Amino acid sequence: MTIQKIEEFIFKSKLPDIYIPKHLPLHSYCFENLSEYGSRPCLIDAPTGEIYTYYDVELASRRVASGLNKLGIGQGDVIMVLLPNCPEFVFSFLGASFRGAVMTAANPFFTSAEIAKQAKASNAKLLVTQGCYFDKVKDLENVKLVFVDSLPEGENHMHFRELAQADENEIEEAKINPDDVVALPYSSGTTGLPKGVMLTHKGLVTSVAQQVDGENPNLYYHSEDVILCVLPMFHIYSLNSVLLCGLRAKASILLMPKFDINAFFSLVHKYKVTIAPVVPPIVLAISKSPELDNYDLSSIRVLKSGGAPLGKELEDTVRAKFPKAKLGQGYGMTEAGPVLSMCLSFAKEAIDVKPGACGTVVRNAEMKIVDPENDSSLPRNQPGEICIRGDQIMQGYLNDPEATRRTIDKEGWLHTGDIGYIDNDDELFIVDRLKELIKYKGFQVAPAELEAIILSHPHISDVAVVPMLDEAAGEVPVAFVVRSNGNIETTEDEIKKFVSKQVVFYKRINRVFFIDAIPKSPSGKILRKDLRAKLAAGVPN
Ligand code: AMP
Repeated sequence: MTIQKIEEFIFKSKLPDIYIPKHLPLHSYCFENLSEYGSRPCLIDAPTGEIYTYYDVELASRRVASGLNKLGIGQGDVIMVLLPNCPEFVFSFLGASFRGAVMTAANPFFTSAEIAKQAKASNAKLLVTQGCYFDKVKDLENVKLVFVDSLPEGENHMHFRELAQADENEIEEAKINPDDVVALPYSSGTTGLPKGVMLTHKGLVTSVAQQVDGENPNLYYHSEDVILCVLPMFHIYSLNSVLLCGLRAKASILLMPKFDINAFFSLVHKYKVTIAPVVPPIVLAISKSPELDNYDLSSIRVLKSGGAPLGKELEDTVRAKFPKAKLGQGYGMTEAGPVLSMCLSFAKEAIDVKPGACGTVVRNAEMKIVDPENDSSLPRNQPGEICIRGDQIMQGYLNDPEATRRTIDKEGWLHTGDIGYIDNDDELFIVDRLKELIKYKGFQVAPAELEAIILSHPHISDVAVVPMLDEAAGEVPVAFVVRSNGNIETTEDEIKKFVSKQVVFYKRINRVFFIDAIPKSPSGKILRKDLRAKLAAGVPN
């Protein structure tokens, strides 16, 4: 029998592969050859104006590692960070890396139930947070609480200062294997509930190197840059593409704890920010602000959008307002480490990119577009599911081999659940999303999580949550609901309140539509496409 070899269409970067020091632990990679640049400014804390040099950051992180060790945090143990962008966030993460421990971060606006879920699922032993969140975390069991500011009364907690005052010489450097996990962000991936995404030292080193290493035109951060870190570091986009890439490039990273358009403009003006990584809602806010002309923003040389789709019109509007800056998109997914593709116009020498493009696949990686019906790879200009392979992708989901198998196939391809195509110039365009995920201002909303909450309401018999387009947020979650036994008293308002008590603000249900039955396939899968089509045809009454 002759086996016919089917042609595979695999796409690689136009740029040559680079050497990546995958054997290095993440912190060693970030602080490689420290003596050459140690006294350069590394972190600038915007609220206080305090500046930390590379030496300061490295030392503080090693001290935290020693402090963690003293508290019994061992290799592989998980610490949780519940903080806005601040220096202590960085010290905790890098401290965990030095210790050989793992950091999981969550949104400080999460409700106590959401925090408890992640703390339990990740088996966190210690949590670093602010005093104002005490009420939300005080009942966590077997979790040591560390506060970076005011210290609430109680026995089981301590001030961050104590942790960071430990003698850095007290611990031997942990023997880290490149395949050890160092970061554990939570993501629902293509389906179901949020899961722990295991990102290893090797994976993050590879991903950062793919973005900023090597002598090539893709080197879009350099040591003279001031990078605005306004996106929350509890999301991998900011943790990787802002913090870690900034550290590796020896740039200065300006930490802004909370987005506010005027503060954004004034910080860019004051610190002569050169790189501004943002998400589409920030691009929208910039384009609409009447204050734009009151500030000198000419220092910005790169405005990079990612995390969610950026409309062509918006891209054009902002491009006109920043004629000297390079504007482009990057495309990421937590499970992919996260960066799959980036815009080559971030490079030193401008290469024109088409509006709407999400860049080209990163170096040292392979991308293919597959037909979701039969998994065969597709040639250029044909849309299908975007898949990526390379050392940067996740090791898998924590304690969930089944979900891991569904996402990473036997040949090592990670299936993103995004639909896109690659054009004749190697540029990637995302055109649709196959997966359930909803993105509110770049934040993940997992329909399965909201559906479980709504189903726990005594008068609801079935539900499906889908995205509805929204100008400011990109998408908002809406629910199609079946009331039980002809019950007609349960109102839209009641369901919205029922949900909003249990979730962070961006997971709140925007609209509730009552229907007789949720459309399902013969195997019982919700036909989300039908519901999305219903919304596209006009909001139902
Ligand atoms: P997250 O894991 O939270 O980073 O979310 C990843 C998902 O966000 C991707 O799988 C896409 O659906 C979406 N996404 C990220 N970047 C872009 C982009 N530039 N354009 C369109 N969608 C994007």
